[in-house]
Amino acid sequence: MDINFETATFKDFENIPGYNMMQRADIYYDFLDYMKSNGHQYRLRNNTACNSVINVGNDETTKDYISFVTSDYLGFTQHPKVKQAAIEGIEKYGTGTAATPLIGGYFSYHNDLEKKISSFFGRQEDEAVVFTTGYTANSATLQILLQKEDIAIVDMAVHASVYEGCILTNRKTFPHNNLEALEQILKTSENQYRTKLVIIDGVYSQDGDVAPLKEIYDLVKKYNAFLMVDDVHGVGILGKTGRGSLEDTNLLDKVDIITGTFSKTFGNLGGYVIADKRLATFIRFQSRQQIFSATAPPSSAGILKAIDLIDEEPQWRQKLWTNINYFKKGLNDLGLDTGTTCSAIVPVKIGDPHITGDVGKMLIDHGIYANSIIYPAVARKDARIRMSVMATHEKEHLDKTLNAFEDIKNKLHIAKK
Ligand code: PMP
Repeated sequence: MDINFETATFKDFENIPGYNMMQRADIYYDFLDYMKSNGHQYRLRNNTACNSVINVGNDETTKDYISFVTSDYLGFTQHPKVKQAAIEGIEKYGTGTAATPLIGGYFSYHNDLEKKISSFFGRQEDEAVVFTTGYTANSATLQILLQKEDIAIVDMAVHASVYEGCILTNRKTFPHNNLEALEQILKTSENQYRTKLVIIDGVYSQDGDVAPLKEIYDLVKKYNAFLMVDDVHGVGILGKTGRGSLEDTNLLDKVDIITGTFSKTFGNLGGYVIADKRLATFIRFQSRQQIFSATAPPSSAGILKAIDLIDEEPQWRQKLWTNINYFKKGLNDLGLDTGTTCSAIVPVKIGDPHITGDVGKMLIDHGIYANSIIYPAVARKDARIRMSVMATHEKEHLDKTLNAFEDIKNKLHIAKK
């Protein structure tokens, strides 16, 4: 089978009929070389930290770029108090847990984290389970809760970890945020499955838009289903006090399962699941990740401080919103399409994947590092540049980026018609 490198995407290499693993690796290796020679590179090396300006590149060619690629929205990976708390965690507990939570790897800081994150959401202390990543919080939880007699009903734009969590169960997807399609699936699934679990994101990772939470919650309850909300990109950013997308809709104590990450706003690594105490206990003792894999290392003690800072230092959230509003308005004033975002994820929607790749390259030439997102992460004709705004961006960073977009817009005609 011939793969046309000019039009190929990563997805085309997942499984090539008749190719064994080495043959697939060979052709993929050549594809990466081809991409590199055309100036398209992923997995670039960051030589500094999650700052707003980062040094990127290999040893021979490194350069400083204004960064829009990390989800360290509030800048907490660099906050002195968060770093100090992480260091204290290491001093007290060492560097690892050396066992899985079920059989010796459950430490008092894990318990502190569970208490802290559940009370952050106004829930009881035994209603949280800590995971190694946000990815496994989703995938491992879903794999243990949903079996072949059950069904997952998912918004098609949910994260890959949710799709992975659904491999042992039945799954139906509905078009993004489409209430009618969701209701239709709920209707046709009535009396057919033991558990019907609707899974959505609070904030969607590619468009930065939010789910119609109240309407979805009402529908889910009308059809006796359950609701799981992954709010990885909402927590710390949305809501009057930063509790995420569920706060302003008063759903924090109503949604059946909330999942999240410690790797974005909280500036660390790890994930969590919030659920009723019996469900949380079931997940804690039954999910394979909790039984067979070690979880959060002692440096996660930094998360305890990061959670406190959401209340203690709201100025970071305020600065983030000042930046988001300024940046979005600047892009829109240039005639660029930022879609339906209501969060710190700001896309510039372009459509054509090749033009999007060219915009990404031109941004790099201007000293700006932002990701080009193409199929399969988004639909084929919905390619975009995706940027994560941070509280630590200065106005001059945003202005420089807006100037770059103005230049690129004039050359590549990417403004909305
Ligand atoms: N859910 C969503 C919506 C995400 O965007 C991500 C990370 N990109 C995850 C889950 C996984 O989080 P983590 O990086 O902590 O594994």
